[in-house]
Amino acid sequence: MVTPRRREGRQDRWVSRVTDTRRSPYARVHAVSVGAVELLEGFWEERTRANRETALGGLDQRLTEHGVVSNFESGEHQGYWFTDLDLYKWIEAAAWSLAGHPDADLDARLRAVTATVMSAQRADGYLNTAIGPEEQFRRLEWSHELYCAGHLVQAALARSRVSDHDALLDGARRFADLIAAQLGPEDTPVTDAHPGIETALVELYRETREPRYLNAAIALAARVELGGDAVGITGHAVRAGYFAAGLADIALETGDAETIATLDALWISMIEEKAYITGAIGGRWIGESVGRPFELPNEGAYAETCGAVAVVHWAWRMLARTGEARYADQIEVALHNAVLGGVSLAGDEWFYANPLSASDVPETDPWEVNTFAQDMAGPFPLARRPWRDVTCCPPNVTRMLASLPGYCYGQSDEGLWVHLYGASRVRAAGLDVEQRTVFPWEGRVELHVAPAPGADPDVERSLFLRVPSWSSRTVVAVNGAPWSAPPVPGEYLEIRTRWSPDDVVVIDLDVRPTLVACNPRVAENRGSVTLRRGPVVYCLESPDNPDADPLDAAVVVSRVGEISVQHRANLLDGVAVLRVPGRVPTTDWGSLYRPLADSVAPERDETLTAIPYYAWANRGPSAMAVWLRRG
Ligand SMILES: [Zn+2]
Repeated sequence: MVTPRRREGRQDRWVSRVTDTRRSPYARVHAVSVGAVELLEGFWEERTRANRETALGGLDQRLTEHGVVSNFESGEHQGYWFTDLDLYKWIEAAAWSLAGHPDADLDARLRAVTATVMSAQRADGYLNTAIGPEEQFRRLEWSHELYCAGHLVQAALARSRVSDHDALLDGARRFADLIAAQLGPEDTPVTDAHPGIETALVELYRETREPRYLNAAIALAARVELGGDAVGITGHAVRAGYFAAGLADIALETGDAETIATLDALWISMIEEKAYITGAIGGRWIGESVGRPFELPNEGAYAETCGAVAVVHWAWRMLARTGEARYADQIEVALHNAVLGGVSLAGDEWFYANPLSASDVPETDPWEVNTFAQDMAGPFPLARRPWRDVTCCPPNVTRMLASLPGYCYGQSDEGLWVHLYGASRVRAAGLDVEQRTVFPWEGRVELHVAPAPGADPDVERSLFLRVPSWSSRTVVAVNGAPWSAPPVPGEYLEIRTRWSPDDVVVIDLDVRPTLVACNPRVAENRGSVTLRRGPVVYCLESPDNPDADPLDAAVVVSRVGEISVQHRANLLDGVAVLRVPGRVPTTDWGSLYRPLADSVAPERDETLTAIPYYAWANRGPSAMAVWLRRG
C-alpha cells in the first residue's frame, strides 16, 4: 500500500540511499541510490553475486531452522535473547538486494516475514520476542532491546526505500515513538549498553522529518560515558563502532563542535593505535574489546566481523560530512580485507573472530570450559562455519554486501564522487559514468563519462576521483591528456568540465606490491613485514606453500623489487597472487629458547606465494600468516 507520505517529495521512484543526507545541514557529500549503481562483471559483482545467490537464501533457511523466525510467532523463545536483530539484518540485506535485482520470490518472502514480525508487536508499539511486557526497558544493560530496535528501524527504512511495501516501517515507527516517548526525555538516565539505536533514529528522522527521533538519538547518545578528556576508541569493538557511527550521524544534523571533536579523537585513536591493517578493530577476546593502544595480537585476534562493518558505517558518515578521502580509504581497506574475510567465497560459511595468523595444529579443550570461545571461533584449526548461536556477523556481512553498490559513489551539488574503484555503472548527479577495470587486480581504471539523459550538456559538472593514500604514483588523463591538477594521495581530485558523450577519464593507480612495516609498539609485529597491493592485504597460507610454514617463513626485504604478480583465474574464484623471494629454516629450532649466539638457524631460499587475506581458509584447515618474519 502506498501511503500519501511516500508520494510526497519523491523525485525519483526509489530513493534507495543507505543514508539520505540530502537535507542534512552539515553533509558535504550524499549517498547515491543503491539501485542507481550496477556492478559489472568483476571483483565486487562476483562477491555480491555469491552474497545474493547463496548467502541470502542460506541464512533465511538457517534463521528459520534455529527458531529466529518462529520466535515472533510463539511464546516459546529459542536461542539467545538478541536474535531478533539477526532477522532484521537479513530483512535489510534482502531489501538492498532488491534495489538492483528485482526478485518476486524474495519480495514475497519479505512480505511474509514482515507479517510474522509485525504479529509480535504489542499494542503500545513494543516489539522484542525475548522481553516480557513487565520487563520492557528495565534491563537495558544486557537486554539489547534498543540494539534490536535499531536494526528493526534500519531494516524497515531499507525496505521502504526499495519498494512500496511500508508495513515494516509503519511498525518500526510505532516502536520508535514508544522509545522516544519513554526514553527520550532528558531526565531518563538510561540507554542500551549496546548502541545501534542512534544511527537508526537519525535515519528515521531523515526519512520522516520528525524531530523527536533526532532528539531521542541525541539524548540516548549523551548518556554514554566517553572518558572525559582522554577520549579514544575503547571497550567492546562493535559497540564502539556503532556508537561512533551514531555520533557521526548526529554531527551531520547538528554540526555540534564538541561532537565533532569527540569523533575526531575517536577516529585518530583508531587509525593511529587500534586498527588492524585489514581494517578490523577489537583485538582482545576479553570483552570482545578494542583493548589498549597497540594491543593487536595476530593469532589471538578477536577482530569480530561486525566490528569491521561498524567501521565502514562510521567512516561512511565521516565521509558524508567532510568529503575527505581518508575516510573512503578506510572503507576500502575494511571492505577488501576484514569484511570480505568474514565470509567464505561461496557465501555459505562465516567467521566471527578474524585472526591474522593461524596454526593448523588441532587443539581441543578437554574440559570444554570455554564454550563461548568455542562457539565464536574454535575449535582450532579455525574454520568458517555455517552457523553459530551468536549470529550477529553473518547477516551483517550480508547486508553490507547487499548495500555495497550504495557505497561506491557519492553526489553533491558539484557532481559525482567516485569513492570505490571497481567495474560498475552509475547514473547520478547529472552524469552517466561507467568504470571499466579489473581493479583491484590491476590499477588502471577507465571511466566513460557522459551527461545523463535529460541533463543540460552545457552545464559544468565535477567528477571527484579518490586518489587512494596507498597509491604513491597516480596518473590521471582526460581524453588522453594529463589533467591540469596533480593527483594527491589521500585526497579527491576534482575534474570539472562540460562533459560530452565520448569523454574518457583514465586513472592509473599504483598497485605495485608493497612491503609494510608496523609500529614497533605492536609487540607481535616487531621485526615483521606484510605484503599489500593496492587496498588488498596479503597473507601466506599453507596450501600455496607446501615447502614453507607461513609461521616461520621470511620475506627477503632487500629483494622487494623481485616480487611478481601472477593472475590465477582458477584459484580462489580468481585472484592475483604475489610471488615473493623468501627464506625458510632448514632445521627445526629444536627448543623454545637458545643463547643468542646459537640462534642463527640455517635457511634456504624459497619463493613464497601470497594470496589475498580475505580468501584464506577456503581450502580446509590451514596455517596462515599476514605478518611475516623479515629475512
Ligand atoms: Zn558479530
